[in-house]
Amino acid sequence: MEPNSAQKWRVAAAKVMAARPATPMLTAVAMAGLIGAVGFGFSHQYKHPATERSATFNPGTVLDNVEASVNAAVNGATALEPLLTQPSTSMQTLAPASLVKTLAVGRGDTLMKLLAKAGADSTESALAIEAMRGLYNPKKLQLGQEITLKFERADGDALQLAALNVQDSVERTVTVTRGDAGFQAQEIVRELDKSHVRSAGTITSSLYESALDAGIPMPVLSEMIRLFSYDVDFQREVQKGDGFEVFYEQFAGEDGKPVKAGAIQSAAMMLSGQEIRYYRYAPPGEEADYFTARGMSVRKALLRTPIDGARLSSGFGMRGHPVLGFSRMHRGVDFAAAAGTPIQAAGDGTVETAGWSGGYGNYVRVRHNGQYATAYGHMSRIAVKNGQRVRQGQIIGYVGATGLATGPHLHYETIYNGGQINPLSIRLPTGRKLEGKEFATFQRNIDAIERQIAATPTKTWLAQK
Ligand SMILES: [Zn+2]
Repeated sequence: MEPNSAQKWRVAAAKVMAARPATPMLTAVAMAGLIGAVGFGFSHQYKHPATERSATFNPGTVLDNVEASVNAAVNGATALEPLLTQPSTSMQTLAPASLVKTLAVGRGDTLMKLLAKAGADSTESALAIEAMRGLYNPKKLQLGQEITLKFERADGDALQLAALNVQDSVERTVTVTRGDAGFQAQEIVRELDKSHVRSAGTITSSLYESALDAGIPMPVLSEMIRLFSYDVDFQREVQKGDGFEVFYEQFAGEDGKPVKAGAIQSAAMMLSGQEIRYYRYAPPGEEADYFTARGMSVRKALLRTPIDGARLSSGFGMRGHPVLGFSRMHRGVDFAAAAGTPIQAAGDGTVETAGWSGGYGNYVRVRHNGQYATAYGHMSRIAVKNGQRVRQGQIIGYVGATGLATGPHLHYETIYNGGQINPLSIRLPTGRKLEGKEFATFQRNIDAIERQIAATPTKTWLAQK
């Protein structure tokens, strides 16, 4: 999260999960919590580990618009008054009425451990975490993620846990606040502005590098590569001078800064002058998918290349074996890629082998149906278990050089009726085709996308080096 961006958050939706209705006070408490998430840097009065930032709550630093909306939302809610009307000189006093701490999740940290580190009572912590359970799974905490805690002075002298904030995603924060009926959780959804971006470029090296040069965000690029990998053999079909275009959603905060990319609406590659273009479409009652202008789903039973941005380093057929030294049949294809590159399941299926297998090293075999299976060798690490169901595109392991391998690469096999076949030469069974009324609806949909594309200026045409 960017510092200060939380100050500009709008509370667009606040869902209260506890018995109490959504009162203005809860909204205000949540906003106070959000303000706390900014982590004002007045930490000179307290000593904390380097990962903590703490501050007394100082309304003077709150942006006017936030303060105004808090005040409007409070509507005389007494619980917050001491906090909001506290003069800024309270920074000077040694016994603040409240204290905000921001902590970063470290290795091995659980929410419970973080709360303990911040000095929260363990019973209180357990209650607060329990209260948020329906809205946030504490196991989702990620390394480096920040949580914000607010402590308030109880009747006696001790500071007690008053609020806990966990940012779940760029647009969603879960807040737990202490109320009369114990801890209550709510989610705050930040309202983001959706716009569209049209990016295009010419391939100078690989689609991967040229698209990155064109400023296409990584998640969009990965999705684009995944889409085209059903139809395009990146190794043999993509040449210098080929082009690409992608039209995708972008979400920005109130300051207009993009915070995340959304779905691709249309993507195209111009290969040797021929355009391959896909459109996003959600058939009624189904998940959105991508189709050609003729209504053919791009999804195939198997991916041609189960790895992003890899280079085909050895094809299928007879060759001198690089490790054994004599000629033998190479029953798969090799994709050179950096160690640790994720390997995807080529299709939906069940893992029928996951473990060490002689020269294959760490090896996974996925059974897709009665006829087809795919196998993946030399992995540095396996990410699935025997018998596990996997979906197409799911990460099943990572590129390595285990077994008989001279360097990091993926050895990939397609097995048809028990024997290995060349994965690059098989005619893959295609997915569904839109027809009749459905096709008419789809066509109206792509007309709308085309009009939007035409109305959006292209961000980059030529990759800038
Ligand atoms: Zn191989």
